[in-house]
Amino acid sequence: MAFSYDTLVNWDREHLWHPFTQMQGFREEELLIITRGEGPYLYDFSGRRYLDGVSSLWTNVHGHRRPELDRAVREQLEQVAHSTLLGIAHPPAIVLARRLAEITPPGLNKVFYSDSGSTAVEVALKMAFQYWQLRGLPQKQRFLKLSGAYHGDTLGAVSVGGIAIFHDIFQPLLFETLEAPAPYCYRCPEEKDCKEQCLERLEELVAAHHQELAAVILEPLMQGAGGMIPQPPGYLARVREVTRRYGVLLIADEVAVGFGRTGRMFACEHEGVSPDLLCLAKGITGGYLPLAATLATDEIYQAFLGGFDEFKAFFHGHTYTGNPLAAAAGVASLEVFAQEEVIKSLPPKIAKLSRLLAEMKEDPHVGDIRQRGLMAGIELVRDRETREPFPPGRRTGHRVILEARKLGVILRPLGDVLVLMPPLCIADEELKELARVTHESIGRGTKDP
Ligand SMILES: *Cc1c(COP(=O)(O)O)cnc(C)c1O
Repeated sequence: MAFSYDTLVNWDREHLWHPFTQMQGFREEELLIITRGEGPYLYDFSGRRYLDGVSSLWTNVHGHRRPELDRAVREQLEQVAHSTLLGIAHPPAIVLARRLAEITPPGLNKVFYSDSGSTAVEVALKMAFQYWQLRGLPQKQRFLKLSGAYHGDTLGAVSVGGIAIFHDIFQPLLFETLEAPAPYCYRCPEEKDCKEQCLERLEELVAAHHQELAAVILEPLMQGAGGMIPQPPGYLARVREVTRRYGVLLIADEVAVGFGRTGRMFACEHEGVSPDLLCLAKGITGGYLPLAATLATDEIYQAFLGGFDEFKAFFHGHTYTGNPLAAAAGVASLEVFAQEEVIKSLPPKIAKLSRLLAEMKEDPHVGDIRQRGLMAGIELVRDRETREPFPPGRRTGHRVILEARKLGVILRPLGDVLVLMPPLCIADEELKELARVTHESIGRGTKDP
């Protein structure tokens, strides 16, 4: 587009309200305008190259401008850009539904599309709620979440969220939930065996409230936006066992961890878990276009069947649900996964990232390093011994990512937790570059004052 950098900056300042952004300080910073991407790299207005260290907010899988995905979207564009799923269908949505049912954990056979992670979660919550109404157990209306949970920004998703600074202000608008402590081992108030204590607390809550509980919702294996908080091995399987024992649905929100991120196609596979409802978004189109899916078991689906005038249908749907261009990108992305055996290619990259992260362990301001697959968080602290955080006003995480940007890497922190989430296609040398720049930026960004 033929506009100068200065014009775009002026118009951005004039009109664009950026998400999750304090606009006051932002308007004073230099604006990075991305105009192009290629593989794991993004390019700015002046042609400068940056490694996309967070996969364009956790979405990109096979790299930017991936020929197979570009072609799939272009070919679909030559057919039709959009047609609805309300009452009619189109090939990409059908084929993608088939593929998703094939590759997701056993039992998840029905695919309900929407447009974002938040809506995938809204759909799961409403499905779980209505399911119990239809099953004749209308008292099962409540949801249990984990502390530090993030499931999106629409009000239902916020209700099952557990991040105080994002969620507290909206409290009067939210429905009430039960909360179990997430196993945040680095900042655990318990003296010993934190995994057992967290699980016991969750089990106690389920045992005490199962008659009114519709579902437990969690991010399997690793809580993302809450600060990259991993669950110890065995945790997810136990939650599945407890929910099954007490007749409570399990909603797995794999919006962040799905599509290879943790080293398996889906995080639930690590523990052989099949949830009742599975939420997918972010990586579903390879990071190309907005699309989401909520997968349900046949059992849940069947509860909604009935005569037209029984009004048991799931009365929910977004206008662009299952958009053909997005679904075509999704199908193409899964073809790349299969053809290039992407999942098989991951273990050496994951091991490499572990080794590179281990080299940062001795940094005086690195408190904790948490990794699952190609998804890692580095928690920065003022004092390693006492684990004392930096004061929030210092914006340490933000300072570090601005340093990284000067060195050619794009990151986005969660407070003072640096997130590393490169596209799965990242090569060895690029991983090294990502780690080298991150390490150096930590040094620069934590220096006094
Ligand atoms: C990003 C995210 C969401 C929300 O997805 P949007 O597409 O931003 O609405 C929900 N759950 C998890 C685990 C996420 O990481």
